Amino acid sequence: MTTDRLLRASGACAGFAAAWFLVNLVHPAGPRVLLWLPSVVGGIILFTALVRTARTTALPLPTRRFWRHIAAAMAFIGVGISSQAVDVLAEAHPRGDQTGPVMLVSCGLGVLIIMYALFRLPLDRHSPGELVRVVLDAATVMLAAAVFLWHFSTQPALRQNNSTGVYLSLMVTIIAMLAVFAVAKFVLSSHTYIANAALRLLAVAMFVGSVAPMFRPTFEAVDVSLFPDMVSTPLIYWIAAVAAARQRSAGNRRPRGPVAPRRRSFSLLPYAAVAGVDGLLIWVTWTHSSDTGVVVGSAVLLTALVVLRQVTAFRDNSRLLARLDHSATHDGLTGLANRALFQTRLHTALTAPGDRPVAVALIDLDDFKEVNDTLGHEVGDLLLAEVAQRLAACVRAGDTVARLGGDEFVVVLDDADPAAADLAAERMTRTLHEPVHADGHELPIRASIGIADGHSGDDPSVLLRRADVAMYAAKKLTGTAYLHYNPTMATAGADHAHLGAELREAIADDQLFLLYQPIVALDDGRIMGAEALVRWAHPLRGALAPDTFIPVAERTGLIVPLGRWVMRTAFAQLARWMAEHGDAAPGVLNVNVSARDLREPAFADDVAALLAEYALPADRIVLEITETMALEAGQPVLTLHRLRALGVRVSLDDFGTGHSTLTLLHDCPIDEIKLDRSFTQSQIDDRVPVSAAVIHLAQALGLHAVAEGVETADQAEQLLALGYIAAQGYHFARPMPPEMLSELLAAGGSLTPALSGLPVAGRG
Ligand code: C2E
Ligand code: CA
Ligand code: CA
Repeated sequence: MTTDRLLRASGACAGFAAAWFLVNLVHPAGPRVLLWLPSVVGGIILFTALVRTARTTALPLPTRRFWRHIAAAMAFIGVGISSQAVDVLAEAHPRGDQTGPVMLVSCGLGVLIIMYALFRLPLDRHSPGELVRVVLDAATVMLAAAVFLWHFSTQPALRQNNSTGVYLSLMVTIIAMLAVFAVAKFVLSSHTYIANAALRLLAVAMFVGSVAPMFRPTFEAVDVSLFPDMVSTPLIYWIAAVAAARQRSAGNRRPRGPVAPRRRSFSLLPYAAVAGVDGLLIWVTWTHSSDTGVVVGSAVLLTALVVLRQVTAFRDNSRLLARLDHSATHDGLTGLANRALFQTRLHTALTAPGDRPVAVALIDLDDFKEVNDTLGHEVGDLLLAEVAQRLAACVRAGDTVARLGGDEFVVVLDDADPAAADLAAERMTRTLHEPVHADGHELPIRASIGIADGHSGDDPSVLLRRADVAMYAAKKLTGTAYLHYNPTMATAGADHAHLGAELREAIADDQLFLLYQPIVALDDGRIMGAEALVRWAHPLRGALAPDTFIPVAERTGLIVPLGRWVMRTAFAQLARWMAEHGDAAPGVLNVNVSARDLREPAFADDVAALLAEYALPADRIVLEITETMALEAGQPVLTLHRLRALGVRVSLDDFGTGHSTLTLLHDCPIDEIKLDRSFTQSQIDDRVPVSAAVIHLAQALGLHAVAEGVETADQAEQLLALGYIAAQGYHFARPMPPEMLSELLAAGGSLTPALSGLPVAGRG
């Protein structure tokens, strides 16, 4: 049956149940079994609908697991309800024994499975305050439900002094409480994995389920064989079937994997609960009910809960505002001012009334990248935090120390002439002289400091650029050193401000070119793909490696046009290879993208447009990102999801050098990892090599793995033995111009180790 027909059948069941119930309400008609039939048939239909949702492959795994559990629960509940129908029909008196052992056990099991399903749903991340509020909300609703059940069900049952009645209402109470717990848990967990519409419908179904039994006495007065359950059960089944269908269509529209969490939509629930209890309060006072005391007490307690909730919300909000304010102007890692605040402070200093000197000192750590690469980002972060603290201790109260990003710090020295700036620089040099102790390592720090001496009225960006030039000049001296800017520095031409300006022209003037390094199959040397690597044919300095200009491009934002140029050129080249070599063309082309690209909201669209322009199948493009960039929540992860939805593959570059956790790997939308060359080349000793661990990890997660930087036949053999299939490195081929790769493809497209002596390729 199609989804539509299932829904229609389920709706028809509910409709028939309601209509037949009404008919019987007016005048008893037909056999009693007809009244129960929709509850049995509806259960079977719902079970089918739930199984179908659980089998929808487009849904993320936790979602499918959840619906599988609900289907299992449904099977038990269906059996329970059917057995209840049988029990009731078999009794001489319709209100005789309504809860046989089969009914109790299967419904109990069903409820337990639902609880388990909810328990297994992964939680969204929440602040402690939010958690407290959800608990308070749940408590409010639970208390309100308890008061109602007490007034309408338990209390009358107690008065009747009838033990099954008490027993029954106790069970109803427990089920209602569980339903309330379930709603609270939904609120906490659902938005990532369960479609919002499905969620709301399930909550409605649970609500109907817990409220319907309260009307049993009402109908009993009219006709003892009429149970509200006869209508509510098929109705609940129908609502749940619609929920399952909604989840399925949501799964078809969205890319795989979790979606960004949305705002909670249940905050009205506790207020509704309070309103309900207030209504009840008026009712019991009006009717002079005997349990006024209980209801009044509960109403007071409810009010207290809601007030408490508001107070925590208020406290949380003001804390959040303060934090937002702080994090908008401060660096998360070091707590120093960030670039934005630095710019404001510098602007203020330069525009303050009066004429006074303002110095800007730029501090850059010399070997920071090495610390990061060899000891890991955690140690790198500790180092940065320590340096930040020391620098902050060197300046006067009115001065601003800021972190511009990476290992670059800047100080605004207000009202400081060159001599005062000298003193400050001396202090900084001295304090940075002491090595940093981080995570058991003693790390010597070397820093280069560039100082620009300015005055009121100067242009802030000019000052910063001068400090930058001076800093680069200082870097050329050994040890920690500081230099004041002087105009002769800029004309040296080698500074990087200059390089930035030149790079802008280079992109426009086609001075960039790409080399391609084959990615080969380790077993037979067949060319599986190639990685595009950019070079710059500098008019004066010859071919430049990317390390000399990619960092500059990243600082200046030029990386975006540069990246687009690389992508367009590489795509065009692959299209040409495919036209010329057909099946012998490289299977995939790897292109490096920078963190900045992923942050551009239009990036995925641009990639799609380029693919269309060159008529390339998306799965022949692999975009390489470095691990740490992929970590950034928000736009980068969204972009990755969108790229994969296009069919483009994503590779984690330099794998093992950043901090990827298992969960990250598991959750991150990637297809491939590239083992960093430091692990490919590390000496094999007694320990299990990282390369072995990485291939196991890749195999376990179903990721493709490429080993980078293979330089010797030994390394290639070891990697093959470990289970690697693909590799890249000088042992097979250096990065080469496209024509040369064309020749290789024409000659059969294989790079056997005999070819390892391939000449160094490229214009550089
Ligand atoms: P990467 O992505 O890790 O690229 C691999 C680097 O390893 C290349 O350096 C390649 O020439 C080098 N290599 C390949 N085989 C061997 C080997 O056997 N031994 C050794 N020692 N090295 C090997 P290259 O071309 O200098 O690129 C350096 C980095 O610049 C790249 O590292 C990549 O991060 C970046 N890069 C290159 N092209 C681009 C680009 O178009 N866009 C961006 N954003 N970054 C790029
Ligand atoms: Ca790469
Ligand atoms: Ca790499």
